[in-house]
Amino acid sequence: MTASYEYETHNYDVVVVGAGGAGLRATLGMAEQGLRTACVTKVFPTRSHTVAAQGGIAASLSNMGPDHWQWHMYDTVKGSDWLGDTDAMEYLAREAPKAVYELEHYGVPFSRTEQGKIYQRPFGGHTTEFGEGPPVQRTCAAADRTGHAILHTLYGQSLKNNAEFYIEYFAIDLIMTDDGQCQGVLCWKLDDGTMHVFNAKMVVLATGGYGRAYFSATSAHTCTGDGGGMVARQGLPLQDMEFVQFHPTGIYGSGCLITEGARGEGGYLTNSEGERFMERYAPTYKDLASRDVVSRCMTIEIREGRGVGAEKDHIHLHLNHLPPETLAERLPGISESAKIFAGVDVNKEPIPVLPTVHYNMGGIPTNYWGEVLNADAANPERIQPGLMAVGEAGCASVHGANRLGSNSLIDLVVFGRAAAIKAAEVVDPKAPNMPTNTKSVDAAFARFDALRYAKGNVATAELRLEMQKTMQADAAVFRTDKTLAEGVTKMEAVAAKLDDLKVTDTSLVWNSDLMETLELTNLMPNAMATIVGAEARKESRGAHAHEDYPDRDDNEWRKHTLAKVDGPKVSLDYRPVHLDPLTTQDEGGIDLKKIAPKARVY
Ligand SMILES: Cc1cc2nc3c(=O)[nH]c(=O)nc-3n(C[C@H](O)[C@H](O)[C@H](O)COP(=O)(O)OP(=O)(O)OC[C@H]3O[C@@H](n4cnc5c(N)ncnc54)[C@H](O)[C@@H]3O)c2cc1C
Repeated sequence: MTASYEYETHNYDVVVVGAGGAGLRATLGMAEQGLRTACVTKVFPTRSHTVAAQGGIAASLSNMGPDHWQWHMYDTVKGSDWLGDTDAMEYLAREAPKAVYELEHYGVPFSRTEQGKIYQRPFGGHTTEFGEGPPVQRTCAAADRTGHAILHTLYGQSLKNNAEFYIEYFAIDLIMTDDGQCQGVLCWKLDDGTMHVFNAKMVVLATGGYGRAYFSATSAHTCTGDGGGMVARQGLPLQDMEFVQFHPTGIYGSGCLITEGARGEGGYLTNSEGERFMERYAPTYKDLASRDVVSRCMTIEIREGRGVGAEKDHIHLHLNHLPPETLAERLPGISESAKIFAGVDVNKEPIPVLPTVHYNMGGIPTNYWGEVLNADAANPERIQPGLMAVGEAGCASVHGANRLGSNSLIDLVVFGRAAAIKAAEVVDPKAPNMPTNTKSVDAAFARFDALRYAKGNVATAELRLEMQKTMQADAAVFRTDKTLAEGVTKMEAVAAKLDDLKVTDTSLVWNSDLMETLELTNLMPNAMATIVGAEARKESRGAHAHEDYPDRDDNEWRKHTLAKVDGPKVSLDYRPVHLDPLTTQDEGGIDLKKIAPKARVY
């Protein structure tokens, strides 16, 4: 039986799905170019996860001392552990200053230096002189609310340029022509249950990351990889999904971020025996070793049975030995977060923490114009017509195996802007929209309807928790052949249970049960691609730290993973990393010898 739903049809040149930093920058750019642009978003634009970004946005403005785009490019290449695409990383570093000045002119209230210039702060991994010089102050900041400031500014500017917003519309699936071109997206209006088909000459996915595939994530509950899910359902690949960045100190349970500054002020970690275990692993830097090292050591302690709490599944972070004045002055936000999210008074008790998923380097493969690639080994650069992806949902790839702090916000605006430049070239505003392919719409409704009336045995929240716990245990910071192989088997069983879901509420108005079910069907392919890609990669590179293969293997593994997901089945393929820059040294580009692979030590 085919489900029948009424729907309203909207015709646009471009429809952007997502209103975080990437989606808003793309929307604004498209609208400025005179393209009729709609932006659909499941949450109010300024509630997108970008709002939580505090630290800042990287660009070599040289406001605080000497800097150069080539130094920024070098740091990004090294940060990526030589997995990023060279052309995309050059584009990012070169365009970054322009993109930040544009934000300034749009009205982002950046913090200022005495001379009135944009204030920049130091951040991990950002250096001078191709990694030979001292740290650089490259991260532009609007106090500790940079993401908040950027979102509000871009939303206002988009409205000013007549972009049209469809707020609290949930994108269910892409609409494709019979010959595989993307021609729109089917959406469900959450507050009144109406259905909407958006026909567009270009669909831009800016749906953010999929941190919520894990039990503990710093990202918002809305970060469910919906773009990746929609793409996977069309048989298109996801790229480099095994690279997931962990931050050592997310609050246990909520995942709310406790900044590295807490350990910087003298905080330390202990296990169930009250031991300061980091002294054993990293005698010199102890609790201030790099993020991936600390995260891995915490996980070893837990796996070996020395975790704290009833389930022995987390670690304690102590700040209670610090003078109350220090806490009140230097870490007021953290003290508040610990109170709200862990019920802990940091003056008296330790904070329960866990290595927490913070960022997804992988995503929907694109070129540096944001055009989605329907890539395989034989056609590594094949463009998927009608579809773009930007922001954390996409993989251009500028972060490769590991992202540097403050390089995501700049990625959002540089590539959001690039997508708009490209769309103005390939989209003809005078051409009529293609007629809706009702077959594709029916297929999307059939999936929706089957979930709406799902009468199986497993509740969505139950299956989601099982997925999150499995990913947290077996596709975590600490990976071995054994944990990964076990993890793949477990996740195949978990993913298969999607066919046995039970949805109790069948209403179409504010049905959070059904929305979370749709989100779970998006998280699952992202999770499957992550763990299967990780199991296959027999090396350690960036965030993928494999205990059985502790070294990076450039001969065999300097290549991008492509994962096609079909239910619990994942098929892998690979494509080469782009080694050529956009410009030669003669044209003012970088000296390739400077960015040749070497050991990544800081
Ligand atoms: C706590 C925290 C702090 C951070 N701090 C920094 C920092 O200081 N500097 C830095 O560079 N990076 C930082 N990052 C990383 C960076 O903030 C994110 O990578 C970035 O904001 C992602 O932006 P985005 O536009 O891709 O997606 P998001 O901001 O996550 O937005 C996604 C959008 O997609 C929409 N959407 C998703 N699915 C659907 C659907 N099915 N239908 C309709 N709409 C949908 C949502 O409504 C939302 O508008 C931080 C991340 C976190 C979690």
